[in-house]
Amino acid sequence: MEGAMNFRQFLLFAGCLLWSVVATADWYTNEQAIMGTVIRTELWSDDPLTAGEAIRLVNEEMHRIDRLMSTYKPDSEISQVNRDAAEKPVRISAELLDLLARGIEMSRLTGGAFDITYASIGQLYDYRAGVRPDEQQIAAALPAIDYRFVELDLDECTVFFSRHGVRIDLGGIAKGYAVERGVGILRAQGIEHGLISAGGDSRILGDRRGAPWIVGVRDPRNSDRVIARLPLIDEAISTSGDYERFFEEDGVRYHHIISPATGHSVSEVRSVTIIGPDATMTDGLATSVFVMGLEDGLRLIDSLDDFEAVIVDRHGALHRSGGFLPPQQ
Ligand code: AMP
Ligand code: MG
Repeated sequence: MEGAMNFRQFLLFAGCLLWSVVATADWYTNEQAIMGTVIRTELWSDDPLTAGEAIRLVNEEMHRIDRLMSTYKPDSEISQVNRDAAEKPVRISAELLDLLARGIEMSRLTGGAFDITYASIGQLYDYRAGVRPDEQQIAAALPAIDYRFVELDLDECTVFFSRHGVRIDLGGIAKGYAVERGVGILRAQGIEHGLISAGGDSRILGDRRGAPWIVGVRDPRNSDRVIARLPLIDEAISTSGDYERFFEEDGVRYHHIISPATGHSVSEVRSVTIIGPDATMTDGLATSVFVMGLEDGLRLIDSLDDFEAVIVDRHGALHRSGGFLPPQQ
């Protein structure tokens, strides 16, 4: 019968109709509370199933990394290391070994400003409860802060602390590592445009379909105010700020970035934003430059190819590293 559809044609037509309804090319976003922060995934896909699967895999990876590296979880690999590594070498996964090595590399690069053994004192703080160590406790724990006490055996895949009282924490690079891994997953799923952020650390994949992504740097003293907007394509960006985890007592701000030299929170600057090609690096460098302060920090960033910095000093003034295009205000 001419003009009428046979059953096959009908199925094809219905299938196409269904596909055109379901398969909308669009932006997809998802937020999850993982690693003590908000993981935000944003991506472009022409297939909602691909988008949903990519988001699921990213969140699964974040949970996996949290289980590996959280010092709040007593059965995480890092908690095991903190319990036993001063007694005997502890065998660890190649992944944790690699991250510890990267942490130690960051210590060397920054003259010890970055130091995963900061936790020897860091563990004595509870920012939510407003608990901090007194001077005596700091003086007693300070000698245990030195990354050189962390001995890695790359062949045996073990870590050993050559001093009692040493504690380590990868909080200064873990979120950057996590978003870098997350973007690797997006890429493997065929996604070409996306962004994953974990608190102050973001990794951008591609552009925002014909335009750069615009990432705002917030005013460290006013979360509603943006002080710089940075156009970015295929880059990582990390901000370390004294507003992330802190409490105040007698006008002093006790926050989560600790000087390995003094054991106290660092008050040289209010925030440091680093841009570069790798989120583990930008995360580690943001924490490091925060500890190093304005002059030394800018000098370090200016000595590195591919990395730039925006720093808000302790008076609230904005500074930029040499290779920076002026940010859009
Ligand atoms: P971020 O959130 O990247 O700014 O880094 C802050 C986190 O890094 C803190 O919550 C600690 O877990 C860790 N941290 C603090 N001080 C240091 C330090 N001097 N070196 C390495 N990690 C640190
Ligand atoms: Mg950091």
